[in-house]
Parts: sequence; structure tokens; C-alpha cells
Amino acid sequence: MENNKCGCEDIKKDKEIEEKIKEDTGCGCGEEIIKTPEEDVGCGCSSENTEASEDGGCGCGAIDFPDLSRVENPDKPKFTATTEFVEEFEDYAHSLGISSVGYTLLSPELLIRDKFVQYPFTIVLTMEMSNEIIETPPGADAKDLNDTTYVKLAILTTKLSDYLRKNGFATEIAHPYGGLVNFSALGQEAGLGYIGESGLLITPELGPRQKISAIFTSISNLPINEKNEHAWIPEYCNKCGKCVKACPEKALVEKETCCGGTEIELIQKKCIGCSQGCTYCIESCPFEEKGYKHVKNKFDKMNAKLQEKQAKKFKVELWNNWAKQNSNMFNGLVNGSTIVIAMTENKERLIFLEKEENNLKANIKPLNHLESSGADLLFVMDEKDIEEILNTDDHSKFTGLLSSGKVEIYGLRDHLQLMDKGYMAFLNNLGLSLGGRSCCG
Ligand code: SF4
Ligand code: SF4
Repeated sequence: MENNKCGCEDIKKDKEIEEKIKEDTGCGCGEEIIKTPEEDVGCGCSSENTEASEDGGCGCGAIDFPDLSRVENPDKPKFTATTEFVEEFEDYAHSLGISSVGYTLLSPELLIRDKFVQYPFTIVLTMEMSNEIIETPPGADAKDLNDTTYVKLAILTTKLSDYLRKNGFATEIAHPYGGLVNFSALGQEAGLGYIGESGLLITPELGPRQKISAIFTSISNLPINEKNEHAWIPEYCNKCGKCVKACPEKALVEKETCCGGTEIELIQKKCIGCSQGCTYCIESCPFEEKGYKHVKNKFDKMNAKLQEKQAKKFKVELWNNWAKQNSNMFNGLVNGSTIVIAMTENKERLIFLEKEENNLKANIKPLNHLESSGADLLFVMDEKDIEEILNTDDHSKFTGLLSSGKVEIYGLRDHLQLMDKGYMAFLNNLGLSLGGRSCCG
């Protein structure tokens, strides 16, 4: 550490902070640590701040917390960090009690408040909520426990921010209670987990039982997450819905989506998570009760059975044969190209025709996979027309249905991207052209 050769100062500050965390100060907001914003009335524990309000909902995010850092941002911050430094940072974070660390780029739609954030390079941190909070029914005690957890994570986030600053990097903190960003979405972007129907981030380490914070930093070469291996969670949630039933305030409501499906929306104004420390949606969640691994195993088994049944219903083998017989039509497409076929009668499951190693392969996937799949074109047609297409050796039936307008076609990428992937020739074969007749609305 550059500014603190012997490390004694750090140890002293660590002790101070630990002491503060241990102190029973109601909400856990030690005065020296959490300084109140000028016009504010405290740490967010007062009912004035945390009760449901028009824009703050349950009280979470109702307060603009000050930056509690003890170390100033460097005048000339560094912009790159070594892999070793990032590993050291993670080790330090875990030693403090941080459960998981992820990295992503902040996109404007994740900002809840209209506030300028200088650096989009984002470190996302999660920290466990104790069993005590989960076991305590909503009310003053649960709220205090919940607030204390927020404060503890705020302190740890500040310590980690200070650590980065001491090492020459600029930082800005997103306080876990501050409502600057959508933390669950940030955690999902960072690949730490996936958002469940409860609106909470579900992670392998802690299920839905965690608080999340973030540090925006000048480190431009963070190991940004590109993939998310937890994208199966919404499909599991679709069949579960326990949190919706468990919510005493009916804050989780089902609403229709544009594509004929349904999704759960959290009505912030009704939620008493922050104002009363309610955790019923966490308690009821199988990821909390049984753990991530157990739920994933169960999901995989269920899915394997379902896939087997649906492969028959969706005639995956027939699609594979049809694609093979009409391989000329797909010749020009590059590997990685993906065409999706939806049945008008059942849009919840889709046929994905994916080009891999110069072969087209059919798979059935759920509707919610469409967005993250990187698919290029979507065809929507009636079940009886699909039957006819599959019963015809060549693609004349398909082309005929297209020209009679019985098949809807949607471009899921812009025209340039479709051209790059070789769709010009493919569409010409079908009597269509990019930007011309029928393609691609
Ligand atoms: S169960 Fe409690 S915390 Fe969860 S959504 Fe409902 S009111 Fe909010
Ligand atoms: S309770 Fe069920 S539906 Fe709700 S988040 Fe957990 S797994 Fe998903």
C-alpha cells in the first residue's frame, strides 16, 4: 500500500470500524461513520425516511447518502490494474465478509437517479443477510436488523473503496441503501446471479439472502463479465411463484408482457422490506430453503424430462431432417447464426435453428431465452403450417407461406448485422430482401 507503509494505520481503522459494527446503536449507524446529509434526518432509520413514499416506495433508496470515504480520491488516478492486484482486492474483500465480487460496465438504464457517475467501470459486492433477520417477523426489530446490515455493507464498501484509492485508483460508492442504481440488475449484469420473480438477485452462494453495493472506479481493465450462467433461474421461477404467494402486502403482482406471456412486477409502494424489515419473499424461496445447488439439480432433472417430451411434440428430429434436406438455403449463413421459429398457438417454447460447425441444429428453448440468445430472425407461424412445411422435402411450402403472408418474420438484429451474418442470400432465396418486402420489421 502506497500511503501506509507499515499498515498500522489500516489496522487501527479496521478496528475502529469493527467496533462500530459491533456497537448496538439501534440502526447500527455510528455517528462518526455515517454522517447525515445536510438536510437529512439521520441514517435512514427514522420512520420519516423509510416509510413508503411516492418515489421511494418502501423507503429503500430514499436517501442520498454522503461519501464516507476516509481516503481522498487521487489527483491523477491510475486506469489499469494488474491481475494480481484484482486478486488481492478480492481476497481482501472476502476477508472482510464480502460474499461475492463481480465486474460490469454501468449502463444508463441501471441508474435510478439522475446523477452523473464519472466512471462506468463497476465492482459489484454482495454480503450475507443474517438468519436472524429472516427469522424476525416484520416490525421494529426486523427493521433495525435490516438497517444494521445495510450499514455494515456500506462500511465494508467504504473500506474497499479506500483500499482502491490508497492504491492510486479513483472511486465512487453506490451505497446499498442509497438508491442510485438498480442493484439486483447490476448483480445480474456482473454475472453474480440472476433476478428471480421476487425482484431479488439470486446467487449460488446465498440464494436471495444478500445485500448488494457497488464501487465505480477508474480501473478500465476490470475482468468484466460477459456471460451469465444463471439465466435458467427465471424459468424455474415461472413454475414456482412461492414468493408471490408469501408476500403479505401483495407487492408482487403478475402482469402481462407484450409477447402474450406474464411476468411479476414489484410494486415498490406496497413493499415493506425496508420500512419493516419484511423478508417473507426471501424466507419462502426454495433457493433460501434448499440452496442453489439443490434447486439447480432439481431443475436440470425436470428439464431433461420436459425436453424429452417436447422434442417429440415439437418434432425436433423432423426439423433437423428438414434443415439437412434444405441445407443449400442456409449455406451462406455464418456459424453462430440463429433462426427462431414460434408457433402461434404456443409461444412459450420456441424452435431454435442454430448454425454450428457449418451444420444447422434444432433445439427447443423457452421464450425467455430469446432475448439473451443472440438470435437473428424470428418466424411466427401456425402449427398446421409447420406440419405442412415439415412434410414437404424442399422449402417450397415455406416460401409459399411466406409470400402469402401466413408467416410473420421479424428481424432481431439491424440490417448491417444481418448482412454480416450472410442473411442477404438466405432471404433472397425466400423471395425477400433486407429492407425490402416483408423483412424485417
Ligand atoms: S414479501 Fe415483504 S419484502 Fe418481499 S415483496 Fe412482499 S412486502 Fe416486500
Ligand atoms: S420464491 Fe420461487 S418464484 Fe420467487 S424468486 Fe424464489 S424461486 Fe423464484
